[in-house]
Amino acid sequence: MTAKELLRALKMVRVPVSEDRLWFKSLLLDPGHGGRDPGAVGPTGLKEADVALSVCLWTELLVRESAPKVKLSLTHRGSGMTPSARRQAIRDAGADVMVSVHCNCADSRRAKGGEIYTTVGETVSDPVAANIAKRVQKQFPDLKWRAGPGGEPDREAGFYVLRTQEGLARAGVLLETMFISNPAEEKLLSQPIVQFRFACAVASGLLCEQPATS
Ligand SMILES: [Zn+2]
Repeated sequence: MTAKELLRALKMVRVPVSEDRLWFKSLLLDPGHGGRDPGAVGPTGLKEADVALSVCLWTELLVRESAPKVKLSLTHRGSGMTPSARRQAIRDAGADVMVSVHCNCADSRRAKGGEIYTTVGETVSDPVAANIAKRVQKQFPDLKWRAGPGGEPDREAGFYVLRTQEGLARAGVLLETMFISNPAEEKLLSQPIVQFRFACAVASGLLCEQPATS
């Protein structure tokens, strides 16, 4: 990644006027899969777990730089964990907001685009999802955004990492960056600048004054 590319991506990270005006005090980043679970694997062998971890580590760096007072943690740093250990880690963190990062996968190699999920029937996370979705689209104007059935930026699903959020954190979203099963998107996902730009989108989607309250 060149310095110019880096600066262009960074310019899109909106830093809040004052950290005290942020709507959250603690953030948990959850890199999907990891350890013995590579997640989805692309046509040339790119692992979802590696992309997710890279996006989360960049996000951590950006948030720490912009909002050092935020209590920030990761569920793991590459070691991965069993679903029950992950649920426990999320419960233990009790963060105001959790962002889980993944790559999408489909049988058809033509499937493409980005998605963000919130829990079915829950609305607290919707503004967070909308903010991050907006920033992803800003970082990647050519990316097909797979909106919800009513045209809303987020989709709803019962992912276990999100279900764990019920009553335990104010907000939780799951970002499906791109389809690792699509050769063109796999190629993009393998690039550090693309991983960094997803991190910029997540960080700037979070670092704003809009409260995530219903
Ligand atoms: Zn995944």
